[in-house]
This record gives sequence, structure tokens and C-alpha cells, in this order.
Amino acid sequence: MKDFPINDMVAGVVVSQYVRCGKSNCRCASRRREDLHGPYHYHMVRFDGRLVKRYIRKKDVAEMQRRCRLHKVFNERLRAENKETEQIMKEARLQLRTVGHLIGDRTDRMETARQWLGDIPPEFKP
Ligand SMILES: [Zn+2]
Repeated sequence: MKDFPINDMVAGVVVSQYVRCGKSNCRCASRRREDLHGPYHYHMVRFDGRLVKRYIRKKDVAEMQRRCRLHKVFNERLRAENKETEQIMKEARLQLRTVGHLIGDRTDRMETARQWLGDIPPEFKP
């Protein structure tokens, strides 16, 4: 992760769409898929809960796909690492609880000993 090319990453995806130009006398007005223009390529990304769509020139498509893929891979790895950290924390908490029980047991045993032996002189108190 240290050497990950984060400066190359771009959030979002590249989508390809067939479109209508809007001219009523154009063949695309038929709405039939084969009459539409394209495919045109767009970069789509969610930004502040809003979907932002931006046209990409054909020559830039491959590079944009590469950069979006990097972002996806980075996030997948980050999620995996977070999961791993969570697991370690879970185990650490479990161990702490075990230590807590051991300390509790020790306190209980000392209390029992105290009851058996009477008051412990201050110089021997834990
Ligand atoms: Zn058209």
C-alpha cells in the first residue's frame, strides 16, 4: 500500500452510452438502439451525493479506465486492511478481558487468604 500510485487514482467509473442528439429530423429520433449515436464514453462519479457525468474523448478512455480501476483496487485493499485491523482489535480486546479475569481471580484469592489469615500487616500489603 505504501507504494500505491495514489496520485493516479480517480474515483468513479467509465461508462459507454448511445445517445440521441435531439434533432427531430435525425435518424436517432427513432429511439431504436441501432439508430443512436455512439458509443460515447463518460466518466461518472458520485460527488456530494450527486452523480457527476463528464464526457471523455475516445483517446483518453483507456487511461481513465486504468485510473478508475486503480481507485477501485486501492479501496478494496483498504477495506481488507481495515477488516484485518478490526480482527486484531477484537483479539486484543479478548486477551485484555482474559487478563482482567486473571487479575480478578488473583484479587479473589488474596481476599480468601486474607479471610483465612486475618488482617495482613501493612508492610506485606500488595
Ligand atoms: Zn441524432
